[in-house]
Amino acid sequence: MHIDILSVLPELLHSPLQHSIMKRAQNKGLLTVDIHNLRDYGLGKNKQLDDYQYGGGAGLVMRIEPIVNCIEALQAQRSYDEIIYMSPDGECLNQSIANALSLKGNLMILCGHYKGIDERVREHFITREISIGDFVLSGGELPAAVLVDALGRLLPGVLNDETSALFDSFQDELLAPPVYTRPAEFRGWKVPDILLSGDDGKIDSWRYEKSLERTKARRPDLLDDPND
Ligand code: SAH
Repeated sequence: MHIDILSVLPELLHSPLQHSIMKRAQNKGLLTVDIHNLRDYGLGKNKQLDDYQYGGGAGLVMRIEPIVNCIEALQAQRSYDEIIYMSPDGECLNQSIANALSLKGNLMILCGHYKGIDERVREHFITREISIGDFVLSGGELPAAVLVDALGRLLPGVLNDETSALFDSFQDELLAPPVYTRPAEFRGWKVPDILLSGDDGKIDSWRYEKSLERTKARRPDLLDDPND
């Protein structure tokens, strides 16, 4: 999978994408991420990117020309399955959106700033708008990093068996069961006997029961999906 990210603050994206599983995905050649500084496409000698909004009111808006110039320069090099704008009013990211997007080949992700981007970019270039939750952040970089992480870990070959995404929460509409590691007892608090029994069948059923219990208690909404 190849992802191009358009940002006015590329520094904010470097660390989240250069460690742990994201680093592994890129080192294995399963994911490439290029970050493009919109400032390079800024207007005039000050490389201007934003301006006051028509109609008045506080806050700057990202101008259309630098964004479109960057998008079109990238489109001249490859075609994109989706051009995504990270936005609090987009569809809320969840595991099934992540699963579906992880099957795509080329994605472009646009990070906004200030009051957001000129609406005409959204109307004419953006194919999908994604939010990471009902709150407002100062820029789209952290949301973009969240999206890339959610997708990157799903690419075949990125996770090994021990960390397989299939057993994570939200796959199969269930939350993950509790997990334990050594020691088997700490201050008298014991790991459930069944996990030490070596009986894989019983362990699987215990985990399923716990997943179901936890989902009923914390997220009953996941269980009453009308498509089930
Ligand atoms: N005025 C806008 C918010 C702009 S916040 C509004 O009220 O809807 C500035 C930028 O941060 C946005 O352009 C977007 O790219 C990003 N952003 C903020 N919150 C976000 C969220 N919850 N999900 C995804 N992107 C978000």
